[in-house]
Amino acid sequence: MTAIPPDLPMRALFDAQFQASRAQIDVPLAVRRDRLRRIRALIDVHGPALAEAVQADFGVRSTRLTEVADFFVLRSLIGDLERHTGAWMKSRRVHTPIYLQPASAHIQRQPLGVVGVIGPWNYPLQLTLGPTATALAAGNRVMLKPSELTPRTSGLLATLLHQSFAADEVCVVQGGADVAHDFACLPFDHLFFTGSTAVGRKVAAAAAANLTPTTLELGGKSPCIVDASADLDAVAIKIAHGKLLNAGQTCIAPDYLLLPQGREADFERAFVAAVARLFPGGAAHPDYASIVTERHHARLAGLVEDARSHGARVVEVAPRGGSGHARQMTPVLVFGLRSDASLMREEIFGPVLPVLTYTALDEAMDIINAGPRPLALYWFGTDTASRDRVLTGTVSGGVTVNDTLMHIAHERLPFGGVGESGWGAYHGETGFLRFTQQKPVLVQSRWAAAGLFYPPYGAAFDRVMGLLRRWL
Ligand code: NAD
Repeated sequence: MTAIPPDLPMRALFDAQFQASRAQIDVPLAVRRDRLRRIRALIDVHGPALAEAVQADFGVRSTRLTEVADFFVLRSLIGDLERHTGAWMKSRRVHTPIYLQPASAHIQRQPLGVVGVIGPWNYPLQLTLGPTATALAAGNRVMLKPSELTPRTSGLLATLLHQSFAADEVCVVQGGADVAHDFACLPFDHLFFTGSTAVGRKVAAAAAANLTPTTLELGGKSPCIVDASADLDAVAIKIAHGKLLNAGQTCIAPDYLLLPQGREADFERAFVAAVARLFPGGAAHPDYASIVTERHHARLAGLVEDARSHGARVVEVAPRGGSGHARQMTPVLVFGLRSDASLMREEIFGPVLPVLTYTALDEAMDIINAGPRPLALYWFGTDTASRDRVLTGTVSGGVTVNDTLMHIAHERLPFGGVGESGWGAYHGETGFLRFTQQKPVLVQSRWAAAGLFYPPYGAAFDRVMGLLRRWL
């Protein structure tokens, strides 16, 4: 299929993509559609094998979880791109102000060129193929660096992409942090990174050396506020689902809970019942994912131990018993946590839910506003005045009201972070534009009066400026 072997050194692959992108700057709709079709076919034909690879990489990771959390989201994203790319790639005529008339003006939408995509391991298909498909729809070439922590998935993805695309259209570079660093140093036209805030800083620094613009889809501590007006029995299952999907290894999982003081016992009871409904028999359930590596598992266990040793009350919810996988970590609730505990200083990224309490809503909002701006925020309740106070009084990457996670699945909502949870957003037209140069074009008219502004400045110039002062 490809004239350029995909196993060339990454700089040579970049050069090939660069040449190809400059040789075909105007990428027709048919070419973009065909590339999207190939991504869709890859999922349709090889979805089961890819889901098996994810399962093997994790230890326990239900293929149905991959179906909903990776493929369903991807199909929705690709379908949206297929439907709208034709309209989105068209130039936009814009109104021309009176002092420039009769000139005309439009914004021409063009591909950027070569886009680099660096992906994480937690949803290793959605978060690699999603940005790849979006960049392709916008007419770009893509170099992808998937995570080394899901080697089977990344390896299969590379094989399949190299079977479906010429290496100067899409190619995959595999490896760990050293390879990733070299990858981030390539002079891409745009670098799209999904991963931790700590690595995001390194990516931004590497890209800055080339003045490569970046999108950083990072992590952080996403709060979940339960309002006094909320029905705890109804909300607990939504919180448990958002927290325990992929065993908490979800960038927008609720990281910690803010609960009205005095409701702790009720919430604990409702949460335990909700987990029993989601995972009958406890953490050994095959739909409950394992923690990705022993290192990640040990870090989480250490965070819980640190909280316990500082006097917090740790409630083990639905233990695994003797069965299941050793890394299927028992979900825990943590009450009475000190604000300086490690659990409150770093993103948890696992099935551990600290429950903080508040007496007045301002107190809850102060806790949120004192920290870095979160990737997501969740609010539960029926008191709309209280809801609106939270919406206007906090800044986050995104919000779902009365549920968790769901804003990521809405293609009309830009998805991304703010501040330490990242910058730039994608999904839908926002994503298309992230990978598009919006080139302003002014077409001057032969009847233009621009000469009125030329020197030497005299009385005519003063009259024109006087008129404009009144108009503008
Ligand atoms: P990570 O930052 O450890 O790794 C992500 C990718 O970066 C990997 O491919 C890795 O090889 C690469 N990398 C490592 N060192 C690098 C360097 N010096 N330069 C360039 N790239 C480098 O993240 P992870 O552990 O794979 O994923 C978990 C993190 O990702 C969590 O913080 C989570 O919140 C975040 N995340 C964010 C989103 C989002 O959409 N905002 C989605 C998923 C995960």
